Amino acid sequence: MGKIICIANQKGGVGKTTTAINLAASLASLGKKVLVVDFDPQGNATAGLGINRYSDDVSTIYHVLSNGGVINSAIYPTKIDKLFIIPSNEELVGAEIELNNIPKREYFLKAILKNIKDEYHYIVIDCSPSLGLLTINGLVSADSLLIPLQCEYYALEGLSNLLKTYKLVKKRLNKVLTIEGILLTMFDKRTRLSRQVLEEVRKVFPNKMFKTVIPRNIKLSEAPSFGIPAILYDSTSSGALCYLKLAKELIGENNG
Ligand code: ATP
Ligand code: MG
Repeated sequence: MGKIICIANQKGGVGKTTTAINLAASLASLGKKVLVVDFDPQGNATAGLGINRYSDDVSTIYHVLSNGGVINSAIYPTKIDKLFIIPSNEELVGAEIELNNIPKREYFLKAILKNIKDEYHYIVIDCSPSLGLLTINGLVSADSLLIPLQCEYYALEGLSNLLKTYKLVKKRLNKVLTIEGILLTMFDKRTRLSRQVLEEVRKVFPNKMFKTVIPRNIKLSEAPSFGIPAILYDSTSSGALCYLKLAKELIGENNG
């Protein structure tokens, strides 16, 4: 049965999209069939996987939401075998407003993904930097929440709000939701700050941290401008290798 992982943190620029793209690509390279759902109006995962988010011909998650679920026409292959994406663009902003007036508005994405869940080993949802209705839809659809945390001052700031939202969703809307793990991103081993953040987060969440830590690596930030994951851009880079390690860690924990 497919597992749906929601990548969320309302803080901007912490590595959600980089993680969505490169974790998904790594899982696919390990033989898993994977779907990335770009659920952010910025459409960064869409662009990072080589799809033109501005083209009128592209079907997006917004079209699926507003057409009542014709999902297959919005699933696109990528340059990685077994890796697929449902694109997004700024039209998705409209969905947040339109959904607000509808009953069961928290369950829209779940209803759509239900029909295709078992066709994939993993579905990875890339959320926008907010705790609004779109992210709630992501959390309600998911089996687990993966939280990227950037190694910087105030890394833990805002995390309590995210965890509060997680607990509320788990209590009221999606009882099976768990925390997949907290992932430290943009770690720079040369700086004391990175090491301090790592120690602090390990102290606060001793059982929730991924063992794998993602280093700051220029290849991870360059790859999206070529529309490919780091594993295709430079497979020997530390960024590509660490996301592969993360994928193995995740699969190990999921026994499959
Ligand atoms: P948003 O909240 O806007 O959606 P995000 O949380 O998805 O942002 P990303 O877009 O993944 O964050 O990353 C923010 C910026 O940092 C991007 O320019 C990305 O290329 C860069 N970046 C992310 N992770 C790394 C890394 N490990 N090493 C170097 N650069 C990185
Ligand atoms: Mg993003």
